[in-house]
Amino acid sequence: MLEISGLDLFYGDAQALAGVSLDVAEHEVVAIVGANGAGKTSLIRAIAGMAKPGAGKIMFEGKDITGLSSNRICDLGIAQVAEGRQIFPTLSVLENLEMGAVIPRARAKRKETLERCFQLFPKLKSRLDQSAGTLSGGEQQMLAIGRCLMGQPRLMMFDEPSLGLAPAVVSEMFKIIRDLHAEGMTVILVEQNVSTSLKLADRGYVLENGGIVLSGTGTALLNDAGVRQAYLGL
Ligand code: ATP
Repeated sequence: MLEISGLDLFYGDAQALAGVSLDVAEHEVVAIVGANGAGKTSLIRAIAGMAKPGAGKIMFEGKDITGLSSNRICDLGIAQVAEGRQIFPTLSVLENLEMGAVIPRARAKRKETLERCFQLFPKLKSRLDQSAGTLSGGEQQMLAIGRCLMGQPRLMMFDEPSLGLAPAVVSEMFKIIRDLHAEGMTVILVEQNVSTSLKLADRGYVLENGGIVLSGTGTALLNDAGVRQAYLGL
């Protein structure tokens, strides 16, 4: 579904990604693992069209999307649940959800997607008129995921979805990603919680200094001595 080859990304002179190649098949959950500064967010931003690659190619469903605008990429079905959540705090929960469905393809299915969101996040249904800014951190994260879903994405990218959330909410969030996977959603997951994300993922890639150094099934990476030492403290 997604094929990336030879991707370079620079911020001025600083190289954040160097020759990254990876692929994601439809219905897969793929984890991207790496230390702080390894380039994980840069990779997500490049796929989402929020950072322009210096070299390389990004293909999505057979279409070259390298260098397209973030709006266009979103229209094609790639959604990013951003680090920091980015909900609209002064708008109500319902307004936030509706803003996710502005593209024509999604607008037509607005009602049924809204119902699906309520099934996944029953708490949101009871707070539709509440300002989004008054929700708890966990609820805001659920709302951000819900808003993404409203756009009928085919590939969802999560960047540190558990950041700053209480442990119980983190479990709930991972359960939601598992549920989405079970429904057939394709997911790219960047997560500081390496063990949980590799357990959940079909496959994973390890990013170091902007380059992929290792890839394999989630289970193989969990059992890899280097991964265990560097990321699991074992
Ligand atoms: P973290 O987990 O800390 O967010 P990351 O793996 O997501 O790390 P990136 O945020 O992609 O890594 O950063 C990769 C490299 O690019 C780092 O060296 C970082 O300092 C640099 N970088 C990121 N954003 C910018 C920017 N806007 N301008 C300059 N350098 C940047």
